[in-house]
Amino acid sequence: MNALRAFSASSLTAVPRAGLRSAARPAARASLRRAEIRPSSGRASLPFGATVATARAPAVLLRATADMATAAPSADAAAFISSFNADYARIHESYENNFWETKMNLEGNSTDALTKSFNELEAFLGDQSALETTRKLLADTAGTVTEDQKVILRQIEKTLLCYIVESAEARGVRESAVGKENAMNSARNKLKLTYVEEDGTETDATPTVLRTKIRSSSDESVRKSCWEATRTVGPFLLANGFPQIIAERNKFARTLGFVDFYDMKVTQAEGFDKKTCFEMLDGLEKATRPILDDALKKLEADKGADALKPWNLSYALSGELSRELDPYFPFENAPEVWGRSFAAMGIRYRDTVMRLDLCDRVGKYPNGFCHWPVAPHVGQDGKWNPSRANFTSLATPDEVGSGNTALTTLMHEGGHAAHFANITQGSPLFSQERAPFSVSLAETQSMFLDSLCGDAAWLGRYARDRSDRPVPWSLLERSIKEKHPYEVFQLRGMIAVPYFEKALYEMDESELTAENIAAVADEIEAKIQGGLAARPLLSVPHITSDESSCYYHGYVFAEMAVHQTRAHFLRKYENAGGIVDNPAVGPELEANYWRAGSGDPGFLRMVHDLTGAPLSHDAWVGSLGKSVDDLIKEERAEYDAAVAAGPATANAKEVDLGMRALFVHGDDTIADSAEEANGYLGACATFKKWVNERWPKTAAA
Ligand SMILES: [Zn+2]
Repeated sequence: MNALRAFSASSLTAVPRAGLRSAARPAARASLRRAEIRPSSGRASLPFGATVATARAPAVLLRATADMATAAPSADAAAFISSFNADYARIHESYENNFWETKMNLEGNSTDALTKSFNELEAFLGDQSALETTRKLLADTAGTVTEDQKVILRQIEKTLLCYIVESAEARGVRESAVGKENAMNSARNKLKLTYVEEDGTETDATPTVLRTKIRSSSDESVRKSCWEATRTVGPFLLANGFPQIIAERNKFARTLGFVDFYDMKVTQAEGFDKKTCFEMLDGLEKATRPILDDALKKLEADKGADALKPWNLSYALSGELSRELDPYFPFENAPEVWGRSFAAMGIRYRDTVMRLDLCDRVGKYPNGFCHWPVAPHVGQDGKWNPSRANFTSLATPDEVGSGNTALTTLMHEGGHAAHFANITQGSPLFSQERAPFSVSLAETQSMFLDSLCGDAAWLGRYARDRSDRPVPWSLLERSIKEKHPYEVFQLRGMIAVPYFEKALYEMDESELTAENIAAVADEIEAKIQGGLAARPLLSVPHITSDESSCYYHGYVFAEMAVHQTRAHFLRKYENAGGIVDNPAVGPELEANYWRAGSGDPGFLRMVHDLTGAPLSHDAWVGSLGKSVDDLIKEERAEYDAAVAAGPATANAKEVDLGMRALFVHGDDTIADSAEEANGYLGACATFKKWVNERWPKTAAA
């Protein structure tokens, strides 16, 4: 099934969908250390109807739930939890608003305000007295603290323990590393990337444009020039403090008793150590090495040795096909397609307010992400505080491939948003995306949902051109033939990142020179990917910032879980509609994967419970090993059924996602579903008009 995912990905070799994922998904304790601190004026940051959790420590005594019948909950515990939740919500929101403003480069955005709100959040989560109160309440033996309250208190304790740094020495090292990281990142913001056009003109480009051109430019010199531009990021970072930052991160982690920074990050984010993590990765690496060798040999035999060059590889695999597929993914229709597809699967957002900034522009952060200024929770008074989400992608609407990328990003980030919107626990600490939230759990949801864009069952329904004609089977068949044998490149590109970071943080301090680090990056690319990578390891944004470094393995474990989850649903609903447009799928995800958030039972247990087996790489390796002929047969049947059925909501006048959607472009609001006569679809229509006006090529059907 996943052969078709290849073309919905942004580039084959270099972690295709990595660019679609959050670079800035904070994962672990030190996650609050911020990069990219840029100035602003500290303007009030509630750009629209923010549904902040307003309850500030109400004197709530009783919740209207059945479990309250046995004992009245402790007023102390209720008051503490309410007050803690309200303070957290306020401080978290202030920080996230500043985060959004600086990342989107909005007018008046303030580095100072970002730093201040960051420090406030860090201080709040590092508050020793809150930890003491929590423990005192947990130790209650009088029976006044209910089991439900204890679940919340244990989550508060678990979270605070991720942030409290008790040693003064460790704090000092950490502050120093943060300072260096901020300096490096602000230098990086000014790094000018240029490539040379076919006619010799030197042209400025964002990293996204470079990646798109490497994949799609028909001129080899342009592709090479773009790839070389991405290779300048590494030396730039290495000359601007990256080696010292690595040394200090290690020192910090060791002060806290971890083997190194990687060990600290994985332990905090996933609950298992570096050793366990790499035992799982080594198994996968070993199982797929022969598949990689075969794929490289086949590529050379089919397309010649030049195809193996890093600036040619993605193009050799996807160039022409993406062009031919492009008309079936009109960018301006992407939000509507996403909404219809999710609604048909029974996915609802529980009154989320979502802001979508989908188009690229100069000064915008170069990676899509979804963050939550408001993490949802149920208050001690039983009141539901819905989430508020900010979501961004980097589309250039008339660029070939942009519609496909936008759609996959919407399915991915919208999947994150659906997950977090449905976390219905008693504190925002279950639904905030930092530690102790498992990266693997979070990415499983988004990657499961974006995986549908590669299924004939989905494409036959939703991949339609501007005249509503479905994508022809011949293109999908070609896609399987061209992509399936090379799917392993994606996997190897993914695991290269954790192997590189492992090597980085295992280097002796005396060896941490720019030269050595660059050499290690090249070595890992050769060893894991079979040659220099199309997306150089040192240009992967995740590795630089503290919060997103050493967590890429989370994507790998998530992909394992995605394959296992898909296999489970496809088996279960083999004769009952499969996954696409199956209204039972959303509620099952909600019940098994979503509602508990970062509380018990946790990632590995959830996967086991839903799929009936412990997490393993079997389903993933099995799908890579499927023959092209078998896959074509299966997908053909799915395609025919999908075209015959059409999208489940094709005739519906409204699409109910249970959310308010705002389409924005920087400081401008394009459309608001709350102000449109037919809600979400109305907002999609207004957005479409806006795109057509700004990028007239998109209007020519
Ligand atoms: Zn993601």
